[in-house]
Amino acid sequence: MFQSEYLKRVYSGVEARNPGEKEFLQAVREVLESLEPVVAANPKLEENGIIERIVEPERQIFFRVSWVDDNGRVQVNRGFRVQFNSAIGPYKGGLRLHPSVNASVIKFLGFEQIFKNSLTGLPIGGGKGGSDFDPKGKSDGEVMRFCQSFMTELSKHIGADTDVPAGDIGTGAREIGFMYGQYKRLRNEFTGVLTGKGLTYGGSLARTEATGYGVCYYTEEMLKCMKNDSFKGKTVVISGSGNVAIYATEKATELGGKVVALSDSNGYIYDPNGIKLDVVKQIKEVERGRIKEYVNRVDGAEYHEGCSGIWTIKCDIALPCATQNEIDEASAKALISNGVIAVAEGANMPSTPEAIEAFQSAGVLFGPAKAANAGGVATSALEMSQNSMRYSWTFEEVDAKLKDIMINIFHNSYDAAKKYGMEGNLLAGANIAGFEKVADAMLAQGVAY
Ligand code: NDP
Repeated sequence: MFQSEYLKRVYSGVEARNPGEKEFLQAVREVLESLEPVVAANPKLEENGIIERIVEPERQIFFRVSWVDDNGRVQVNRGFRVQFNSAIGPYKGGLRLHPSVNASVIKFLGFEQIFKNSLTGLPIGGGKGGSDFDPKGKSDGEVMRFCQSFMTELSKHIGADTDVPAGDIGTGAREIGFMYGQYKRLRNEFTGVLTGKGLTYGGSLARTEATGYGVCYYTEEMLKCMKNDSFKGKTVVISGSGNVAIYATEKATELGGKVVALSDSNGYIYDPNGIKLDVVKQIKEVERGRIKEYVNRVDGAEYHEGCSGIWTIKCDIALPCATQNEIDEASAKALISNGVIAVAEGANMPSTPEAIEAFQSAGVLFGPAKAANAGGVATSALEMSQNSMRYSWTFEEVDAKLKDIMINIFHNSYDAAKKYGMEGNLLAGANIAGFEKVADAMLAQGVAY
């Protein structure tokens, strides 16, 4: 628990004000724990109420989304947009469409986004949104009607200089396209109000690949600097089989690793010969099918029901790229006893606090989400820049900028941890480095009356 009376008091306030929001409380607690030495060294933070301000969203918008299904029946979902912090730039963060979405999930994601966006070094604030709508099993027409209804309300609260949403779980190119079309119709303006757009209407090359590639660039740098090692010759397990997992698989393979497992929310595949990514892309990106279909198309591959078994596969590097809290203490211990040397989080908060503790005390290199998966939002910010300039960079230009950003994030986190006597603790380092810039901007901008 907290040493600092100030942090203890702020955290109790967060608990009292957000009862039962377990994901949000988990995320806040993790960040505040890392900030102990920063708060102790900087009395101005308490004097100016920086911590109690940073844990409270600037604005939260919850709204009804009604739409008509293919049978002519009216359906109602709940929409969310949490505009958490705009100290260093317009709110920026994805839209998650998944039945598990609620205020706690969106607030944990929005809170994390503040520090992640700051770490990229680009001028973007933190926000997040989404709905409990499930695109799975819906027709294109149903998804379109939902997205149009969702944007009809959301359009009142966003804008290219105010708040720029993007994709996340369940929100891919199709959903962004429908939402963008609706925004343009309503506002009669062609601006970079969403990122992850298609290439024919303002999207950035390499945005699709960015989060997965970025996780691997970060991991490669972490391996190089902390273990004088690399992906070459390593066995890699990746969870999920969505946008992040697919492009992490592509880059890890390109860097010389062998990815042997992927999953979805029903189960996982194990292919000891190395995942054939063209087969996965066909199933997931073209057919929108289930991952178990892979074993019907590739000899020697196995399918297992259930998700957590994936962490019992022996590997050197684990990249969780599905969802929050997918690695618990037991899964972490299974990975450790099988000799894992590095874990980097592609998903947001995929490791429970007990799992992180287990990795760190076993000396496993641990790259936290807000650093390791920041490549997606960084490239979204590059998309915003290109939209403002009415210009497009080549794939190679964007990819090179992404790589530089990921390498800088690793070093800034490493250095921040070292500065406060926690060398090698990349979790604390990412929280501190992300926080310092935002806190500085908040101090400079004063308290609003
Ligand atoms: P996708 O929707 O493309 O893929 C999500 C994958 O995770 C799917 O394979 C899905 O399986 C699986 N999954 C989702 N929910 C669960 C669950 N409750 N249990 C087990 N598996 C689950 O999303 P993304 O790849 O975009 O996002 C994955 C993670 O990465 C999320 O945590 C997201 O917040 C994070 N992230 C994404 C970024 C991006 O640029 N896209 C940027 C930074 C972070 P199924 O199909 O069965 O649902």
